[in-house]
Amino acid sequence: MSRIFLRHGIVLTIDDCDAYYPDGCIVIEHEKLIFVGEDAQHPGIHPEDSVLDMRGKLIMPGLINTHVHSHSPLFRNFGEDVPLQVWLNDIMWPAESHMTEEHAYYAALHTCLEFISSGVTTFADQFYFADAVARAVEKSGLRAFLCSSIFENGKSERGQTVQTAADFIAAWKGRNPLITPGLGPHAPYSVSAEQWRSIVALSQATHTLIHTHISETKTENRKSFAEKGESPTKWLESLGVFSCPTLAAHCIYLSDEDIAVFRNHNVHVSYNPVSNLKLVSGIMPYLKLKTAGVQISLGTDGAQSNNTLDLLQDLKLAVLIQKQKENDPAFFSVFDAVRLVTIEGAKALGLDSVIGTLEAGKQADLIALDIQQPHLQPLHTDSIQMLYTMLVYCASGKDVTDAMVQGTWLMKDREILTLDVHSVLHNTADISEQLRKKAGLTGD
Ligand SMILES: [Zn+2]
Repeated sequence: MSRIFLRHGIVLTIDDCDAYYPDGCIVIEHEKLIFVGEDAQHPGIHPEDSVLDMRGKLIMPGLINTHVHSHSPLFRNFGEDVPLQVWLNDIMWPAESHMTEEHAYYAALHTCLEFISSGVTTFADQFYFADAVARAVEKSGLRAFLCSSIFENGKSERGQTVQTAADFIAAWKGRNPLITPGLGPHAPYSVSAEQWRSIVALSQATHTLIHTHISETKTENRKSFAEKGESPTKWLESLGVFSCPTLAAHCIYLSDEDIAVFRNHNVHVSYNPVSNLKLVSGIMPYLKLKTAGVQISLGTDGAQSNNTLDLLQDLKLAVLIQKQKENDPAFFSVFDAVRLVTIEGAKALGLDSVIGTLEAGKQADLIALDIQQPHLQPLHTDSIQMLYTMLVYCASGKDVTDAMVQGTWLMKDREILTLDVHSVLHNTADISEQLRKKAGLTGD
């Protein structure tokens, strides 16, 4: 079997020692990295090997987005400059209510297209019609945790129940190594105690991830104390939820006691700063969580509340608002920041021995950025600090030129190889317009 040699790129491994190679070489064989190091040290090249000159590019692990809703590009730019409840009740929920399985499929293709073109190679999704989403992700070649939404709140939305999620898990578990099915109970306030107990039982029986939203707003916490006499976190703990692997998005309003629960049960937090700012939800207590030893990764949330899915672009803001919040320019290093979108994301999904860094033996999930651009230069490649700084404060997803998952190229020199860009964009534009009309949102 021929191997792929990526030669002469700047290679950032993001490993424990922050090893990097200004004139690096990566060798890929059978979906895996078999060599990551100095180009001068590379194993011998055979005539059948494929060799690519990556001069002028920086190679790093593929980005990991730990919270998104794959239908969301359909509603991009639908509701701006309105309060959260108006946004949900009058715009998003009416528009979403007309979605079909076919719509979800094309929306997920669009999300995958946006991810590949901006350097995300793994993501955690929460949406309905998970089977359609899984088929779209399979076509794209991306790696994903697809968590079938459960949204009850008195009535089951679109027939989505724990049974729907169970059927999805049964259908997709072990079917494609890149696709991991999971459970997506929407939030403590929108799923009943009885349903949560069934979800816990299903997660334990199938060893699947629970991906939910916790304490996104003050209102959610206030209602929880009024109705249940405790915080959303304590309530979920009492139901046994945290005995299962749990990924919780937002987590803005957590008490010290809640944070201790997260740490004790190893609950992973997905930090979604742009969505939180846009909906004026608040700012996640990054420093408190980190100091307590809670693991944190980064998510974009959906395109309705972001409005893009550009994780690398969000990273800059993720750091800056925390520095402002703590009134401290020094505590949030670029080293920690880059880890949020790589190895910490892998930990959140239990994949840190598989992806998240570039090390021999791991899966070949990687991206390359074109660094020969005015906004990224001059770049002093003898300084690892400056290379990380460039990624956090100068780069965005638009600088990504190549993306590979499990040794397969999904994008090469900006050309998407697994999806038909024109057809995906045409279909979602058409569906988005249909949904806009059905929800009565045309004509401002
Ligand atoms: Zn969300």
